[in-house]
Amino acid sequence: MTNFQDRWPNPSSKQLVLKINKSFLRILLLAFLGGLSALYALPSHADGKHEFHFEVSRGDVFYRFFFTAGLNGELLNKMMKSDERASRLSRIAPGDKFKITLDDNHDLKKIIFQPLDANPLLITYSKQKFRFVSVNIQPTEPLTHSTIVISKSLNYDGKKAGIEPEVIDLIIANFTWAMDFSRDLQKGDKFILAWDGGSTPSAIIYVGARKTIALFAYTSAVTGKNYYDISGKTLNDTFDFAGLKYSRISSSFTKSRWHPVLKKYRSHKGTDFAAPKGRPVYATAKGTVKHVAVVRGYGNVVYLSHGTEIVTLYAHLSKFAAGLKTSQKIKKGQLVGYVGSTGLATGPHLHYEIRINGVHQDAEKVKLPKQLSIPTNALSSFKNKAKSLLEQLGIK
Ligand SMILES: [Zn+2]
Repeated sequence: MTNFQDRWPNPSSKQLVLKINKSFLRILLLAFLGGLSALYALPSHADGKHEFHFEVSRGDVFYRFFFTAGLNGELLNKMMKSDERASRLSRIAPGDKFKITLDDNHDLKKIIFQPLDANPLLITYSKQKFRFVSVNIQPTEPLTHSTIVISKSLNYDGKKAGIEPEVIDLIIANFTWAMDFSRDLQKGDKFILAWDGGSTPSAIIYVGARKTIALFAYTSAVTGKNYYDISGKTLNDTFDFAGLKYSRISSSFTKSRWHPVLKKYRSHKGTDFAAPKGRPVYATAKGTVKHVAVVRGYGNVVYLSHGTEIVTLYAHLSKFAAGLKTSQKIKKGQLVGYVGSTGLATGPHLHYEIRINGVHQDAEKVKLPKQLSIPTNALSSFKNKAKSLLEQLGIK
């Protein structure tokens, strides 16, 4: 289950805020020299983790906190060299806060640097690699989140906001099922990312002039971490092969078959469905019209894109659905055209193709991603968390 919140300890919590100042450090040093090193090892054990909370006093330097958490100089050097944003750690000021979290082996897991009057920085350490994420919150807010405000494009503005390219790809992969990034995205639209300490957000919320699309992470043992809308469903669609509603496959996907029109052997990179001329042809999943065209061989053909990777194609159509045009959004089961025999076809049939990242797939065998749902027994708690997160972010 995903935890949406990453709170700083409130005054009533048992977690310990170490106020480090010069005189205290002097005492620590003396205590250390006197063999009383246990004195300064004061981690709190919230959630079974090892957490160190520090608040900067005049004259403090970051490395002291790092060493106090039991971490070594070699790791510190590695971290300082791993990202230019690390240089912020050498400009700390009184009132800034740090949270250093170690794993069960006392290895570094993450550092949250929360300056008093600047955007916080999240540094995670996993598989010997540091990752830096700039997160954008007010120090008093319990929730850690970052905001991308669109001025040019998601890629451009995401990079400017310090968001990792992998996270930008994640946003695109999820949201392309609901929006067209080249057309729907307007200047001033926002993506708000909520963080709970992981390298991917715990929620991604698009706030546009006309609509808001909120997705929340949920981790299942079977399908891993995925993003679901507040109804508990992923935005991607399940492809409905049976939805083509034809009685018979007349020709399957094959590497080599005799082509009756060309009179030679060639591969058949699609699936043919026998059907009379004029039979309606429906979209097998929700998507966007990529092309409505007349192409040599295919005749009248419709290409639909579904998410960032999948394209379906419907060829030899006698005619297109009325008004069908490029960039139009299509629902699953929506009419795209009518069976025909335009292009290289001996008789009326539907030629159907699926391509993933441009590679032809056998529609009868390919395993396509399915729309996922939150399990019924977890749904109400998922919805409650999602609602409280939206409230905290001030999103309706
Ligand atoms: Zn065919």
